[in-house]
Amino acid sequence: MRDIAINIPIKVYDINELNTDDKELVNKAIEATKTSYAPYSHFSVGAAARLENGTIITGSNQENAAYPSGTCAERTTLFYAGAAFPDQSVKTIAIAAKNEKGDFLTQPIPPCGACRQVMLETETRYGKPMRVLLYGSEGIYELRSVGDLLPLSFSAKDME
Ligand SMILES: [Zn+2]
Repeated sequence: MRDIAINIPIKVYDINELNTDDKELVNKAIEATKTSYAPYSHFSVGAAARLENGTIITGSNQENAAYPSGTCAERTTLFYAGAAFPDQSVKTIAIAAKNEKGDFLTQPIPPCGACRQVMLETETRYGKPMRVLLYGSEGIYELRSVGDLLPLSFSAKDME
């Protein structure tokens, strides 16, 4: 038996410590929560992706009475980015969420497992790291890549 430790570096920023581009992206994610369609969970999530060409794509969670038919903000955003700009890698994605009372989460919003898997494939598809900014009103997490968000991940290369 032996132990393996996985060390994942995360930088924590106050919003005013972010550079101009990242601050803009986080603010776009915050703004995107307003377009959320969440009559069931009452949990509004917004995401904003900055593509390699500088374009910013935003999305939000879209729910459905047939529950699994809905999609999270992260996947709405990345699938739209892939459909509209298939040749552009995603440099950075920012995610924000607010609860039923309209309060943004104090702690950074963690993407669900399904979204992490899609984020990972978006990253591996272009072969370039996608930085991740998770907004919390008391601090923003920055991860260097999606790989850091999903250690021991499964991807297409595991099927070879
Ligand atoms: Zn999700």
